[in-house]
Amino acid sequence: MKYFILFGPPGAGKGTQAGDMVKRYSLCHLSTGELLRHEIALGTPLGLQAKALIDAGNLVPDSVVEGMIQQRFESASGIEGFLLDGFPRTLEQAEALDQMLAARGEKVTGVISLMIPDALVHERIAHRALIEGRADDARDEIVQNRIATYHAKTEPLIRFYHQAGLYHEIDGTGSVEQVRERVFSTMDKL
Ligand code: AMP
Repeated sequence: MKYFILFGPPGAGKGTQAGDMVKRYSLCHLSTGELLRHEIALGTPLGLQAKALIDAGNLVPDSVVEGMIQQRFESASGIEGFLLDGFPRTLEQAEALDQMLAARGEKVTGVISLMIPDALVHERIAHRALIEGRADDARDEIVQNRIATYHAKTEPLIRFYHQAGLYHEIDGTGSVEQVRERVFSTMDKL
């Protein structure tokens, strides 16, 4: 099984690229953000716990997302691997992922990192707010907090995966098609 991590700041285009990636490489798409939004829509206790944190642009507890990922790993069948989108987002989550995979005799295949400057993050999220109507995209102070959280808690993962020889950075600027070509040419080699 292959375990790809789709990495990048909010608005980098992870969700946009993920669909084509999972089709081409027969992967199961696991977006912790989407899974959490689904729990909120269903009104589950987990969703209720997560909603206030997400709406404020904060991360939900590591244990919550780790549990969701673990559960999906256990129930997967008929796929070549997983595309983890928005997970891991902290060093603790990255270490937990390594442990979950080691317990299955597996390891991370590679990290595909879509990089765009902060100015473009604002532009892309403002555009997405009009299309998808996500509460956490709508207010500028929430978006600012998500970007700050990315820099403080998630960006340290770049060093972590770089040191492990797993980090592949891709220029996330340009058209959807241009970025897709860059992603495919990297993933074809992994
Ligand atoms: P996303 O759709 O990836 O932008 O995620 C939306 C929100 O869900 C984030 O701002 C966090 O509040 C929460 N979230 C998603 N993935 C994680 C994660 N791996 N760890 C903690 N919180 C997460």
